[in-house]
Amino acid sequence: MKKLLTLAVAGALVASVTACGNKSETTPSTSPAASAGAAATTAPAAGGKKPTIGVAIYKFDDTFMSGVRAAIADAAKDKATVDIVDSQNSQPTQNDKVDLFITKKVNALAINAVDRTAAGVIIDKAKTANIPVVFLNREPLADDMKKWDKVYYVGAKAEQSGTMEGQLLVDYFKAHPEADKNKDGKIQYVMLKGEPGHQDAELRTKFSIQAITDAGLGVEKVAEDTAMWDRVKGQEKMAAFLASSESKIEAVLANNDDMALGAIEALKAKGYFKDNKFMPVVGVDATAPALQALSDGTLLGTVLNDAKNQGAATTAVATALANGQVPSKETTGYDVTDGKYVWISYKKITKANMNEAK
Ligand code: BGC
Repeated sequence: MKKLLTLAVAGALVASVTACGNKSETTPSTSPAASAGAAATTAPAAGGKKPTIGVAIYKFDDTFMSGVRAAIADAAKDKATVDIVDSQNSQPTQNDKVDLFITKKVNALAINAVDRTAAGVIIDKAKTANIPVVFLNREPLADDMKKWDKVYYVGAKAEQSGTMEGQLLVDYFKAHPEADKNKDGKIQYVMLKGEPGHQDAELRTKFSIQAITDAGLGVEKVAEDTAMWDRVKGQEKMAAFLASSESKIEAVLANNDDMALGAIEALKAKGYFKDNKFMPVVGVDATAPALQALSDGTLLGTVLNDAKNQGAATTAVATALANGQVPSKETTGYDVTDGKYVWISYKKITKANMNEAK
C-alpha cells in the first residue's frame, strides 16, 4: 500500500513536471504502456519494454546544449523513453531532479552537470540506487569517474578544439601579413572565456595560444575576460575591450561561437566588416548562426563541436547500460576508451568546408 502510494505520488510528480512544458520534455512514445506515466517509468527495462532515461541538462538556454538535447531525443526515438529536464544553471536544482528520477526508478541517468565537481555526489546517489549514469559535455574529475564501474562520460577533447582554433588564426596570419597591424611579428589578441573551471574554457584558452606559439608566431594578450558562454555578455565584454584598447587588437579568440557572435556585434557597431575594415574572429561549436556568420564573412573560422554525435552517443551508452549491457563499439556503435569514455572528434570549419558542419 505504502509502495503504491509512493508510486502514485511519483506519478503525479511526473505528470506535473512534464506539464511544465518547457521544463521537461519526453520523447513521444509509441507504446501505450509507456505513456501511462508512473506505471511505465517504474517498470524495469526488461521484457521488451523501452527503458527510461532521465536526462538533466545544465540549462536549456544554451545554444550548443540545445543541439545536443535535440540529438539525444532524436536518437532515442525507437530505443528509449527520455525524460529531459532543465537544471536552470543551479546545482541544487539539478540534484533535486536527480532525486526525482531515482524516485521514478528510471533505468539510466544522463547528466550534464551544472558544476562538474558535483559529479561525485550524483554518482553516490546513482550507485546507492543502482542506476547507471552517463555524464556529458562537462567532464567529471578523474577521481569521481573511478567511483563506480557504471559511470561513463561522453564528450570531446577540449585541448583538440583549442589547438584547432589557434591553427585557424595561424593560417590567417600566414596568408595575410597585413593582419599584423603594428608589424611587430606578434598577434595581439583578446580572449573571451567560457565559464571558469569548465574544462572547455580552461583548455581552449590554453591550447589555442599554444598552437600559435607552436607555429612559430609571436603572441601577446591585450585582454581576457569571461563572458560565460553567452552572446550578450560576449558583446558587452568586446565593447569594453574596444573602448579601452581598440588600436592594439589584431584578433579575437572566443571559447565558443555565441561569444564570438557577440564580439562580432560589438565590432560591427565600431564599423568593422565593411569598407575593408576587418577583424579575424574565431570560435568553437559550428552552430547554425555561426555558419551563417561564416558565410557572411564576419566569422573567420570555428571548430565543429559535434552535437549530433555527442547526443547520439549519450543515448546509445545510456540505453546499453539501461538494458544491462556493457557499453562497447558493438553495443553502442561508438569506441569506448579506458572502459569509460566516448570521445567525439572536433573539426576545423571555415567558409570553404562549412557544408561539412551542416
Ligand atoms: C560549448 C559551449 C557550451 C558549453 C556548455 C561547450 O562545449 O562549446 O558552447 O556553452 O559546452 O557546457
